[in-house]
Amino acid sequence: MNSLLQCAACKSRLYEPVTLSCGYTICSSCTQPPSSDATVFVCPAKQCHQPTHLFARNQVAHHVDSTLQRIIEAVSINGDIKYLLCCPHCHDTLCEPVTTQCGHTCCYGCMLKLKCQGKSCTECQSPLPHYSYLNRQASINRLLEQIVRFFAYPKIQQQVVRQQHEYRSPLFTTGSIILPRQRTHFSLFKSSDLHLLEKALLYSNGSLYLPVIHHVRSSTPPRYGTLIQVIGVEERYSPITGKAILLNVRGRERIKVSDIEQVMEDGMAIMVATYGLVPVNAMDNCDIVRTTACDIEMRIRQLAAHDTTTTTTTMVSKQQSHPTLTTHVAGLLGRKWLEDMQQQQGLLPSPAKPDSLVWWVAVALPISVEQRYRLLCSESLQHRLHLVLSWITQLSSQWQYCRRMANQALATVFDQQPYNKML
Ligand SMILES: [Zn+2]
Ligand SMILES: [Zn+2]
Ligand SMILES: [Zn+2]
Ligand SMILES: [Zn+2]
Repeated sequence: MNSLLQCAACKSRLYEPVTLSCGYTICSSCTQPPSSDATVFVCPAKQCHQPTHLFARNQVAHHVDSTLQRIIEAVSINGDIKYLLCCPHCHDTLCEPVTTQCGHTCCYGCMLKLKCQGKSCTECQSPLPHYSYLNRQASINRLLEQIVRFFAYPKIQQQVVRQQHEYRSPLFTTGSIILPRQRTHFSLFKSSDLHLLEKALLYSNGSLYLPVIHHVRSSTPPRYGTLIQVIGVEERYSPITGKAILLNVRGRERIKVSDIEQVMEDGMAIMVATYGLVPVNAMDNCDIVRTTACDIEMRIRQLAAHDTTTTTTTMVSKQQSHPTLTTHVAGLLGRKWLEDMQQQQGLLPSPAKPDSLVWWVAVALPISVEQRYRLLCSESLQHRLHLVLSWITQLSSQWQYCRRMANQALATVFDQQPYNKML
């Protein structure tokens, strides 16, 4: 134990430990005095290869890592340290401990949850780092993790949610259907929504997830939903409750709900569901899947290529003051539409990834909630591909017609404008 408590810079016994954003712990006397002319931060930890140190560069004073400080004190008097290895948020043994610049530590998953709920450090109320920083760059406090492994290893595995087959947790309901692969965001400002958010957040494999189903008024609740990943969080002001949260999310996997019950908690009715991830259907015919996927990709590219921008421009060539209007008309399943969609949802996946492709296209096409739900329910990939292909066929004929009509109308309007006649 004593050999563990060593400074990553001077290699002597840690004195007033400071944990840097790279996850290495050094003595506070080993931290460099901040100089204004320094352009590059050179980490004093010899093993560190990380170029960015968010806490260290912007933070003048380093706070002593309070957990490690207490451990050092306990070790020096041969005291028990196990109780010091508890997370102040979940009160369980620290799992992937992360220490922020205030010197306080909690589990990485707990930290993400706190941030997602717009909360501050549990112990000192200091603001936590940005969600995107925590999500992408936060480093585990290496020394503390080693100590946890040393003392409480078997507990760590318990928090891995993914290894179970069925989950039981509160469900989140949304107004629209979120499909796998879809990027979207929703804002939460009602206190009941914020309460549910707190209950329904799941942490697994370094990310935060939320099980979501579509909100319906009918007596039978939907059986299928999506596990969405929280990729960003912004705090907003709400005139109603004071606090609002804007979640940036991305659909990951489908869930199938086997049981839902209403539970009263803190005076609020919440839905607690038993659900599992939808299994991959192995009954699909590979050849049919491949050819259908190729067909879909080709049809989408054809739609985008069959752009009416050129024809529109010649028809209304004299009219330069309405570029947005012409782009709008051409944008109906045209090149602009594909560009916009690729910007929002990422590049159109290749037919070699039919599962990704089918979700991408379903997200991009203007289809009804019922159609989206049908797609969400379909367990066979082959079936999903056929559904999507039928929508494309249907939409492309309608859209060609609509675009032509709109372009003609646009040209007529411009021709009739008095100043056009004068030109
Ligand atoms: Zn040192
Ligand atoms: Zn470092
Ligand atoms: Zn925790
Ligand atoms: Zn703190």
